[in-house]
Amino acid sequence: MDYVTGLRCRECGRPYPAEALHVCDYCFGPLEVVYDYDAVSASMTAESVAAGPQTIWRYGDLLPVADASPIDLGTGFTPLVKADRLAAELGLGELWIKNDTANPTGSFKDRVVSVALTKARQLGFKVAACASTGNLANSVAAHAARAGMVSMVFIPHDLEVAKVVTTAVYGGNLIAVEGTYDDVNRLCAELASEHPSWAFVNVNIRTYYAEGSKTLAFEVAEQLGWEVPDHVVVPVASGSQLTKIAKGFQELYQVGLLHEEPHVRVSGAQASGCSPVATAFATGADAIRPVRPDTIAKSLAIGNPADGWYALQAVRASGGSFASVDDEEILEGIRLLARTEGIFAETAGGVTIACLAKLAASGIVRPDERVVAYVTGHGLKTVEALAPSTGPTATIAPTMEAFAAAVNLDSAERSA
Ligand SMILES: *Cc1c(COP(=O)(O)O)cnc(C)c1O
Ligand SMILES: [Zn+2]
Repeated sequence: MDYVTGLRCRECGRPYPAEALHVCDYCFGPLEVVYDYDAVSASMTAESVAAGPQTIWRYGDLLPVADASPIDLGTGFTPLVKADRLAAELGLGELWIKNDTANPTGSFKDRVVSVALTKARQLGFKVAACASTGNLANSVAAHAARAGMVSMVFIPHDLEVAKVVTTAVYGGNLIAVEGTYDDVNRLCAELASEHPSWAFVNVNIRTYYAEGSKTLAFEVAEQLGWEVPDHVVVPVASGSQLTKIAKGFQELYQVGLLHEEPHVRVSGAQASGCSPVATAFATGADAIRPVRPDTIAKSLAIGNPADGWYALQAVRASGGSFASVDDEEILEGIRLLARTEGIFAETAGGVTIACLAKLAASGIVRPDERVVAYVTGHGLKTVEALAPSTGPTATIAPTMEAFAAAVNLDSAERSA
């Protein structure tokens, strides 16, 4: 059963049919999916969700393709890990890590792609396309392979090697563009109007794509026993994920799955080498001024974020904040999470953890709050960011003497 009643312009409210549309003809505002929440609340209960698959599709009633069979690699229902050792280091109380590195292609993008391509297939598209900073490329190529669709993936030419290999391996078309992500995105907007039969997951299918991020809120609430956190820290690239996490908590209340109206403070995390939204927050600006990215957090390197303004509004409305961190802090964030909790995140995760540390140090994220930090991509995708500074404790000849000479056992055994 599909509970979508149509699409609606987020700016002027004009209604549209649930087709491959993403902007309003009148005001150029982005379109959003509209559900019949009364009908959803009659069918979706804690029990019905618990009986569903261990994937994002257990929340199918609040996704825009409930009546199609999903293109699914097993995405979602990733671990929510209580992070006591990290909390102690940061002076926090109840801290959880939403470990989205555990998705099939190693990032949260599997959530949005599974939804977008399922809808695209339902609408009759046979070509899956995207402009990507890397993780989306992995996910579109993998899901297209699974569905037997042709993939047409566009990336900046200077991406991490791992992200190129883990896209190309799925056998679709992978085009490296000499330019930044924003150049790639502009090219894809032109290609999308030239090739209306291609499903660009983050252009003409973006309305549906974005809905997949709500499952990051749904899962956290379910994993906390249908309660919400007090404060979440979310990485921001286009701003879509953050906006939809905020919306996801509200929707759960609208369909009766939460006892009280949720008041979740939402804080955004950016790299200071690409922080257009954090900068607008800090300066109190109303418009997002585009920037040219220069950061090791390539998966967040969107200088002109499509949903930046909505993310800014969501953070302000929730009483949250923004932080931004430089490359050194990002690497330290990756190491901190790895050594306290055994979770290896990519640079975007380093941004989230380093921003969490900054927000905790300034008292914005507080020890009396139940906090969830979203760690959205796997560290194996960006090993080169760490490789120069992260290696063996010692390299020795295979003898007892060499070991004794190289390793001070007193301090080595204490270092845990
Ligand atoms: C794309 C991405 C994000 C941010 O997503 P937006 O919805 O564009 O803000 C966060 N983390 C990782 C690892 C990503 O790949
Ligand atoms: Zn409009």
